[in-house]
Amino acid sequence: RAKHGGRGCFRFFDAEIDHEVDDRPQLERELQSAIAGNELALAYQPIFDRDEKLLGFEALMRWTHPTLGPISPARFIPIAEESKLIVHMGEWALRKACRTAADWPLPLRIAVNLSPIQMLQKGLCSTVEAALNESGLPPEQLELEITEGVLLQDADAANSIIGQLRALGVRIVLDDFGTGYSSLSYLHRFQFQKLKIDRSFVQRLSDDRNAQAIVKAIISMSRDLGIAVTAEGVETAEQLQQLRLQGCDELQGYRLGRPLPHDETGAFVARYGTEAALAQLQTLRER
Ligand code: C2E
Ligand code: MG
Ligand code: MG
Ligand code: MG
Repeated sequence: RAKHGGRGCFRFFDAEIDHEVDDRPQLERELQSAIAGNELALAYQPIFDRDEKLLGFEALMRWTHPTLGPISPARFIPIAEESKLIVHMGEWALRKACRTAADWPLPLRIAVNLSPIQMLQKGLCSTVEAALNESGLPPEQLELEITEGVLLQDADAANSIIGQLRALGVRIVLDDFGTGYSSLSYLHRFQFQKLKIDRSFVQRLSDDRNAQAIVKAIISMSRDLGIAVTAEGVETAEQLQQLRLQGCDELQGYRLGRPLPHDETGAFVARYGTEAALAQLQTLRER
């Protein structure tokens, strides 16, 4: 009785949390049929160079639940990881992203997120190889984003998988750099070609001198090591300006472009291609 009362109070004051705790098993069950039920989709967020030239997109998973509506990846990815459903979902995302990118009218890059669980799963390399073969996407257009968690879990295994993936010709990117236990020593210990500065640093750029110093150090060390740097979560003109001044190679964030639904990416690329061609023509005329 007392327990029941206590629970009632908890629910009253924090309905949100109670709700989340309660429907995890339900979400896990429903996630199992999400792919077959066509409830999963990919959104594509554009990535630009310093001169605002379009380099490619990052594929981001979306789940629209039939009754609950859109559910955030921050919510369903951890459930998918704990239940290992992420292996199947991740393979679906990889194949879908490669097929989409192969259809774009320009040879742009596509970045796909890999869960640590997928990374350490046997057969990852053949899955990646199959996705490339069946889509016809050239390997140098595929980037795989991994997080440092996997490096801590099993450094030797991770290193050997990274080597095998690189041998296929794909690029390996260290995502969310600067969070958790990230250490600059990872940068030469593991064979990344790029790292993404976590958006928590980018967001503090305007008012936090420490964040400025850290971003500066990451960019300069990466440059010395021959590793490219992407800043994620660029939301303001000021952040954009600072990152450009510091020589950040690639930029991604709401300021430059939000994730686009699948059906809008083809037109976005085509329009961008036309604009780029017109700009080039204009420059030629002005000469
Ligand atoms: P991430 O890989 O670091 O992806 C970047 C996240 O930042 C995306 O959130 C994106 O929508 C968001 N973002 C981009 N620009 C801005 C900005 O200017 N401001 C703010 N506040 N946010 C911005 P999203 O799509 O909710 O994904 C969250 C995380 O879920 C991803 O972080 C990634 O770790 C994971 N995730 C998403 N799709 C996949 C997937 O296909 N496989 C795996 N394993 N994980 C995925
Ligand atoms: Mg990512
Ligand atoms: Mg990230
Ligand atoms: Mg992040």
